[in-house]
Amino acid sequence: MKQVYLDYQSAKPVDPRVVEGMARYFTEDFGNPSSLHKVGDVATDALEESRKKIAKYINADEDEIIFTSGATEAINLGIMGYAFRNKTKGNHIIISEVEHISIHNIAKYLEREGFQISKVPVDQYGMVDVGKIEQRIRDETILISVGMASNEIGTVQPINEIGKLAAERGIAFHTDAVAAEALLPIDVRKDNINLMALSSNDFYGPRGVGVMYMQKRYRVNPMIIGGGQERGLRSGSEDIPGIVGMSLATEIVQKEMDSEVKRLQGYRDRMIKQVLEEVPDSHLNGHPTNRLASNAHFRFDGIEGESILLSFKDLGVSVSTGSACTSKTLEPSHTLIATGLLHEEAHGSLQLTSGRFNTDDDIDKALEAVPNVVSRLRKLSPIYKSK
Ligand code: PMP
Repeated sequence: MKQVYLDYQSAKPVDPRVVEGMARYFTEDFGNPSSLHKVGDVATDALEESRKKIAKYINADEDEIIFTSGATEAINLGIMGYAFRNKTKGNHIIISEVEHISIHNIAKYLEREGFQISKVPVDQYGMVDVGKIEQRIRDETILISVGMASNEIGTVQPINEIGKLAAERGIAFHTDAVAAEALLPIDVRKDNINLMALSSNDFYGPRGVGVMYMQKRYRVNPMIIGGGQERGLRSGSEDIPGIVGMSLATEIVQKEMDSEVKRLQGYRDRMIKQVLEEVPDSHLNGHPTNRLASNAHFRFDGIEGESILLSFKDLGVSVSTGSACTSKTLEPSHTLIATGLLHEEAHGSLQLTSGRFNTDDDIDKALEAVPNVVSRLRKLSPIYKSK
């Protein structure tokens, strides 16, 4: 059975053009940039060329790019590294209720280490109100962290206004930009971003590579100590094939994002319109318009997301109920709860995220399945009562 993949937010295939460009760095140009011979020089050139390309893509300078093993590590370095480095200036950090699980867990850890964390609530669409961030700022506030967009419900945050507020108040602004990669332009200067996490896979590059962007006059404590690579901020031999892959992936995104986003918006809008029309007691999660082009996220009264997912699995359609990073817990999504949903409402969710290699046929197949699956599960549901 041909599989239809509509879970691009959890994992993206690596673009074959990226794989091709990476290949020689495994076998021919395999050197270590720390070596002083010719083979090492080739690796150094590849590393610095990649750094330049990624910096250009986000409107940063080359020396503001630190390569990491992914966004989780970049977030640890950006938030925890900044907090420990600046703890004599203050111990208060502001995040939003709808951050990625890694940020919530870092916040918990920092609380145990004596930091104070304020979590800014969101509206019913998962949108942060900048005024509510402002109300929480204190003399001790050293950092504000709000993700560019939600990896679950796709709501895009007012990053430009948050960056402006942080800059006016002399507070560092960190953003997890992962969910927005390949879907929204990223410009660290325009949005006053001081620290940022990126993941290669969300640009259609290889997994296990990422970047922490850190603006020039900002400082963090390293989280990994060793041979002093990446200016002492991230020791360990650099993953040259992965880093080259990430830079090639951003180059493709730079060229193709506009047309790709238009195509994905078409898929998204069709899915939203058709599902809400065809399935009774169905609702859209996230913002109706201010949402990622790839993201359609629904909830259906009276049924469980897990049973929808398994029914789709039987039909050869891969979908998700929310973040892959928390899918093994039985807890409802913290993002959906933050938007005001009850536990049982949050449990009835279905996330469809499309991407570069989807076709019209994939969308047709998913759209054909949704009403059938929902109506069959509702017949079996002891809690569903049609209105
Ligand atoms: N932030 C967001 C919004 C994510 O979706 C993810 C997972 N892709 C991460 C951070 C963690 O990224 P990584 O898997 O590269 O560590």
